Amino acid sequence: MELRKGIYFLQVEKKGIVDSSSLVVIRDEQGLICLEVGGGGEENINQTLALFEQEGLDVSEVHTAIISHTHADHMGAIGYFRDRIPGLTVVDHEVDAPYMKDNTLLLRAFDCDLVAEHFPGERFDILEFYAALCPISETQPDRIVLEGDTLTCGAYTFDVIHTPGHHPGHISLYEPKEKILFVGDMVGMEVPFYTPSSGGAEGYLASMEKYLALDVELIIPSHGDLIENTREVIEDAAGKVRRREERLLKGLDGPPKTFTDLLPDLFRSPAQFMFPGAAVLASHLKKLKNDGVVQEEDGKYRLSGS
Ligand SMILES: [Zn+2]
Ligand SMILES: [Zn+2]
Repeated sequence: MELRKGIYFLQVEKKGIVDSSSLVVIRDEQGLICLEVGGGGEENINQTLALFEQEGLDVSEVHTAIISHTHADHMGAIGYFRDRIPGLTVVDHEVDAPYMKDNTLLLRAFDCDLVAEHFPGERFDILEFYAALCPISETQPDRIVLEGDTLTCGAYTFDVIHTPGHHPGHISLYEPKEKILFVGDMVGMEVPFYTPSSGGAEGYLASMEKYLALDVELIIPSHGDLIENTREVIEDAAGKVRRREERLLKGLDGPPKTFTDLLPDLFRSPAQFMFPGAAVLASHLKKLKNDGVVQEEDGKYRLSGS
């Protein structure tokens, strides 16, 4: 779908547990710039190539790939693009670049150790998870960007906004003339996901504040449909995080509880306790401890002053 002259949205329909991200492709005088490259499995790549073809775009014209964050569904195919397109320029945020060069750092960003710590005998390895569902690859970025930088893409100029919360080096792109905001995984997902090391609940909420300060007519998310009721959707995403915190505080209003006692206060289904439950709960507990609202003693949590 051509959103504006020369800006194409290649939307991936939701199908499985981990779907490839949708792509945005922008035409300039040199060829095509793509925002995200999708997952790295054969099926992911074939799907991405089919989306280019359906839109009448020639993937071999891509000269630049901008990556919002190094989760497999967004940049898994970067190795494929690198091999196929000589001279490709890969653009990434400074904080994200180490993850692009070394995928094993994602074990830390996802706080995988929390599972082994709180669920005896269990382990969670995000790279094994990706290998089975949406393979990832590595490369060295060619251009590093920071908040405040601009990226010229044909007739459009995007402001780079650093939006941690979901991932430490996550960026969003804002085109002030068109009032378009590309949000990656920050908005549009069914539920916000964050870990203590990704920027956490506080990073996520601060990123939503950055969005609310912008004049936005159209949000392009990496998953799901385009969003026109932009303010409402951003406020709703922040509201989901705040409501989790409220539920947790309610759960803590009483005798001290362990980490695992608190999981059902945030997640109804036990299937979610290990992932994403442990990481999300740990993010909120970290924030509440930093805020001085919650105290931890002997592995139990209680409200400060109770
Ligand atoms: Zn993500
Ligand atoms: Zn994603």
